[in-house]
Amino acid sequence: MQGKIIKGIAGFYYIHVEASGIYECKAKGIFRNRHIKPLVGDNVEIEVIDKDNFKGNVVDILPRKNELIRPASANIDQAMVIFAVKTPEPNFNLLDKFILMMNYQDVPTVVCFNKEELADDEYKNELKKKYEGCGCECIFISAKNNIGIDRIMEVLKGKTTVLAGPSGVGKSTLTNLLIPDMEEQGEVSQTGEVSRIGRGRHTTRHSEIYNVCKETYICDTPGFTSLNLPDVEKEDLRFYFEEFVPFEGKCRFNGCMHVSEPGCAVKQAVENGIINYDRYKSYTDIFEEIKNKKKY
Ligand code: GDP
Ligand code: ZN
Repeated sequence: MQGKIIKGIAGFYYIHVEASGIYECKAKGIFRNRHIKPLVGDNVEIEVIDKDNFKGNVVDILPRKNELIRPASANIDQAMVIFAVKTPEPNFNLLDKFILMMNYQDVPTVVCFNKEELADDEYKNELKKKYEGCGCECIFISAKNNIGIDRIMEVLKGKTTVLAGPSGVGKSTLTNLLIPDMEEQGEVSQTGEVSRIGRGRHTTRHSEIYNVCKETYICDTPGFTSLNLPDVEKEDLRFYFEEFVPFEGKCRFNGCMHVSEPGCAVKQAVENGIINYDRYKSYTDIFEEIKNKKKY
């Protein structure tokens, strides 16, 4: 039988099997001899050992589409990052770092701004332009007023999506709309039996996957207040700012890092309003951060 690892705690793996339920499994000995560790998001083959109590063994991991380091997961199709248009005021440095981190791992990002009713159209258009400029779909929603939730559903459908956002932006309100039975998925198996592990959503720092609907999963990532910079070198940083890429090779100097070099096409594009100034500012801030980090 095949399923997807939705959670791994203390040697147990929880496997969601479509149209059946959640099985509590142990990884069989074979994994100890292999250099492969099961990850949330892995599609696995299980052997059921106790049908009534939903218990079994993971016997094989199916080939992975990809493998993310942050958050540790497999088979991720896309990421969705949630911020509020205000209350709290978005931390754009954090947002840009998140997009960078996902680009670095080759995962497309959808930017979702919640509490859309708190901002005027002019501001929302500005944000939309800014984030579409770097290749992200930008969606405005109000989890409170049930606005834009249809679009979120369309974007999620049939995919496994990493969901991230700082606290207070309405992530729980949104996930409760998308997955009304989220609480149960976290701690109760289909038999109604409460697992020994418990929900742990508020205590664990592990990522956990929830089933939204058929073939549709959300990977909830805890602890999104600061992001460690990925292991990207400052020389490569520019390639993960997608709106810079068309200007690559047009600067006066080969290998221009678009910081203080003269005759820089990217800086020119910022001046001409083609590249968003705040995104460029994020770039130079992150560039400095990497440079200073490498010094120590
Ligand atoms: P989380 O910390 O990201 O999980 O955020 P919550 O879902 O707990 O929401 C934080 C606060 O924002 C709560 O007071 C919610 O009622 C409020 N909130 C959530 N969605 C909206 C929205 O669309 N508009 C407004 N104005 N408030 C919202
Ligand atoms: Zn340049």
